[in-house]
Amino acid sequence: MISYKSGQEIAKMQRAGAITFAALRAVKAATRPGVSTLELDAIAEEVIRSAGAKPNFKGYNGFPSTICASLNDVVVHGIPARSAILKEGDILSVDCGAIWEGYHGDAARTYPVGEISKEAALLIERTRNSFYEGLRFARSGFRIGDISAAIQGYCEGFGYGVVRVLCGHGIGQEMHEDPEVPNFGRAGKGMKLSAGLTLAIEPMIAAGGYAVYRAQDGWAYHTKDHSLAAHYENTICVREEGPSLILTIPPGEDDL
Ligand code: MG
Ligand code: MG
Repeated sequence: MISYKSGQEIAKMQRAGAITFAALRAVKAATRPGVSTLELDAIAEEVIRSAGAKPNFKGYNGFPSTICASLNDVVVHGIPARSAILKEGDILSVDCGAIWEGYHGDAARTYPVGEISKEAALLIERTRNSFYEGLRFARSGFRIGDISAAIQGYCEGFGYGVVRVLCGHGIGQEMHEDPEVPNFGRAGKGMKLSAGLTLAIEPMIAAGGYAVYRAQDGWAYHTKDHSLAAHYENTICVREEGPSLILTIPPGEDDL
């Protein structure tokens, strides 16, 4: 079922989004060689709880943590661990979300740890760019497939693999609502977008092939060829006219 949000609901999602943004900013600031992903998880949880919100990942289907901390060839859903110590040259994808007055925010970024390779830096930059390529079509009158095709076309142009078994989603009173927002697909296909639709658009891109496998912990998705992966996500709202509103970057703030 698709739910379209009222202005009041969108305002709550914007607040959830701002808290999510603050948590990611704090994690970014603490990301450096020698830090464990469990320490980063504690930082994010503190930011979210001290804002009066709740982490939405913690306890979701039994997930134990506030953030997903996915290193290098891990695409998404890495469980933070004391033993996962960041090293110079790593890339760390952090996925995070908050619930404010029953409404969800969901966002992800990939951060460099110290100096990283040019290949890794380009993967991060292009994964982010692909979100904005998709966002151009997240407007009234376009279709889900327009977003999907834009992301896929941009990323495959660099020879990257667009992960297929995971995708973006509707979001609101639930973290995952209809519709699905795949990062691959055909322009002109899928549901037509209209005002009040709120989506998490989240390209998950591999430097190599798109095939993934799930680790024995039942959560982390690795690239099958162990190539690097990057993730970029914002929660957005389709408006009556003009471009979507990004709910997980507060007005006046620069992207993280
Ligand atoms: Mg997310
Ligand atoms: Mg999401």
